[in-house]
Amino acid sequence: MRFTAAAKLFVLFGDPVEHSLSPAMQNAALQEAGIDGLYIPWRVKGANLPTAFESLRGMENFGGANVTLPHKEQAVALVDTLTPEAASVGAINTVVARGGRLLGANTDGQGFLRSLHEEADFLPRGKPAVILGAGGAARAVSVTLAEAGVKEIVIVNRAIERAQLLAECVNRDIGASAIGLGLDDPRMPAMVRDCALVVNATSVGLNPSDPPPIDPTLLQPGVLVYDLIYRPRETALLREAKKRGCRVLGGLGMLLYQGALAFELWTGQKPSEEAMRQALVAAIA
Ligand code: NDP
Repeated sequence: MRFTAAAKLFVLFGDPVEHSLSPAMQNAALQEAGIDGLYIPWRVKGANLPTAFESLRGMENFGGANVTLPHKEQAVALVDTLTPEAASVGAINTVVARGGRLLGANTDGQGFLRSLHEEADFLPRGKPAVILGAGGAARAVSVTLAEAGVKEIVIVNRAIERAQLLAECVNRDIGASAIGLGLDDPRMPAMVRDCALVVNATSVGLNPSDPPPIDPTLLQPGVLVYDLIYRPRETALLREAKKRGCRVLGGLGMLLYQGALAFELWTGQKPSEEAMRQALVAAIA
């Protein structure tokens, strides 16, 4: 990696951040683009996030920032303006300097949508979808799918109140048809059997010994099962879904595409996605 004392600084706010693949991916993109820049992790507790954001305002060589767990929602209040997507999702993963002000963006949803289109040739319009989870990623995915015109969204979550709250927001803000259910709701099995897309947006599967987040016998052949988890590359959910004749996709494409969009917002140029993908695959291995 080459950079000079005039380098632009790009940062990733999170806690923890050690596990993140973004530094490998974004530094590869900077290098490939010939940009004098450096992308570094900045581990920060929530209580200190406002101070960290204030310091960005005084940094003359600020290039851009990403925000990851658990700060995506808290960071909304720390920027000056939001993109429409970030406002709908209520969370940001990208910060851009615009004329002395900080703009908050959320590229997770568009990264997910592009991955669905390009890697699975799946167009969500008019199709029923089930989303497992109701955290930040589920929120970005639900809003994006609703805006893309899915027929119905069933949000299934361990804490039922969060699922219901998310469904209410999506219905109110986007005019979609979403319903929030608990994991043991008797209506859930039929809804999973009848859907075209199942998205795992829970953290169940991050540990390689985790079981699938729902009963895999509910998954019908031909359904697209998308697990947002990218490490491990194949979760128990994807393994079981594949055995049942489902189409399967892991979260690496979403990670790549959300990162590519962030890079473009910061620099105004498209990154080398091939360099980013290679860096990701190497970092995972
Ligand atoms: P959050 O912490 O905001 O949400 C976690 C979700 O997982 C909640 O719905 C939570 O349910 C559920 N959950 C956690 N543990 C359990 C459990 N034991 N049983 C059932 N449900 C559980 O995380 P994010 O939304 O930010 O991330 C979710 C996943 O998406 C992560 O695995 C993350 O790696 C992945 N991700 C991938 C991205 C990509 O680019 N591919 C981008 C962003 C995220 P409850 O509400 O009941 O606690």
